[in-house]
Amino acid sequence: MKLYIETVGCQMNMLDSELVVASLRKDGYELTADVGEADTILFNTCSVRQHAEDKIYSALGRLKNAKRQHPDKVIGVLGCMAQKDQGLIFKRAPYVDLIVGPGQLHQVPELVREIRERGGQRMEVSLGRKDGSRHEIERSHESFDPLRDPTMRPTPFQAYVRIMIGCDKFCTYCIVPSVRGPEQSRRASHILAEARQLAGEGCREITLLGQTVNSYRHREGDRTWRMSDLLAALHEIDDLERIKFVTNYPKDMTNDLLAAVRDLPKVSKYLHVPVQSGSNAVLRRMKRGYTVEEYREVLARMREWIPGVAVTSDFIVGFCGETDDDFQQTMDLVRESRFKNSFIFKYSERPGTKGAELYADDVPDDVKRRRNNELLELQNQISDEENHAFLGREVMVLVEGPSKAAEKHGAAQRAESSPSPAFSEQLQLTGRTHCDRIVVFTGNRRQIGQFLPVVIYDANAHTLFGEVVTQHVGPELFTLS
Ligand code: SF4
Repeated sequence: MKLYIETVGCQMNMLDSELVVASLRKDGYELTADVGEADTILFNTCSVRQHAEDKIYSALGRLKNAKRQHPDKVIGVLGCMAQKDQGLIFKRAPYVDLIVGPGQLHQVPELVREIRERGGQRMEVSLGRKDGSRHEIERSHESFDPLRDPTMRPTPFQAYVRIMIGCDKFCTYCIVPSVRGPEQSRRASHILAEARQLAGEGCREITLLGQTVNSYRHREGDRTWRMSDLLAALHEIDDLERIKFVTNYPKDMTNDLLAAVRDLPKVSKYLHVPVQSGSNAVLRRMKRGYTVEEYREVLARMREWIPGVAVTSDFIVGFCGETDDDFQQTMDLVRESRFKNSFIFKYSERPGTKGAELYADDVPDDVKRRRNNELLELQNQISDEENHAFLGREVMVLVEGPSKAAEKHGAAQRAESSPSPAFSEQLQLTGRTHCDRIVVFTGNRRQIGQFLPVVIYDANAHTLFGEVVTQHVGPELFTLS
């Protein structure tokens, strides 16, 4: 049986797809990249922006004829959009067989089997935030990573590990608390067991995932584990060499966590701490729970405690009621904060959020687009300057694989059916520094998965370019005597 799966959205979704693929492989499925030959077609969806949902509905639209010609194909919609739209998906695309929310993904193999044997449609989703007691709602969302599949990871030596699910912050623009349920931290002993297993399988870098990962807190026996305790315990795992974590909530950036990042060499000196806006009026309407002054204090503390830390942020431009003056305050904050980079999004109204209920989406799209471009231009200029500070410096790079250019070149060669490149052939590789900067350099395939020292000789806003440092062993000249 062949499985085609398409994933939209964040790292959480990539991890969810990894788990779904692992469980379907146990049922005899093999992955295919060709939707035409697939027996089961799954879309793991995102509902954070309208655009992501539109993409899935149009992909479903393209499958209508295929389903008519091959009614035995199983088509499923998984993840956040499944939880948000539920039966609406059957209404808009009646040929869809399966709808499964993020909390029920472990049931996918059984549901697919049932549809194959008995036909009909199936829908499994979690309770809404008002549909029961907190305990009942939590249970309906709980599903913590039973199986892993290395082939679905970013690379075989890098893996995501979920340490929390859900969110209780209820920022007014955000659909996550509805579709991912209440904030729940995972047992530290389970996280450590999973990390040990991953390290044993050759994984050298893990990225801990949570919507507000630094809010992690779990009581086990008579001990309460904080994020800093978890980092210290993970740091003890021998074969693990790098530990990252995303995404941080500014107000929960405590000093014990900053000390852990500073003192534990395996923990990346890289913190993603989204501020979203530089205007207090906008932050208030977003219900982010802090002021710009408080964010500045957090940023100053991070830089004081962790010298050289790379900080990144997210911004939403054109949120309800954002004036030119509000936007200029965001520009000022970016100018002074010197983020390594920022992810910038135009506000997209999400039905079911407080923002959609309380405020008009009143910033015209062309204004959103202009603000997006202006902010991006400013951030790129800063990223470029920050990256140029690396010229001449040596950085340690975890080599991830061929660069995009090398992959394109390889694909073109394969299309011309040239022989595949020799294992030792030089090619352009890409990897990341400990502070999460992308580095491109020339090397060969057997270096993929290794840590290499690279000296930087050029840079732009997004990439550092370098050369692998080679060491001379023994005398260079021999005399014959
Ligand atoms: S902290 Fe706010 S933006 Fe982040 S997931 Fe929770 S509600 Fe959404």
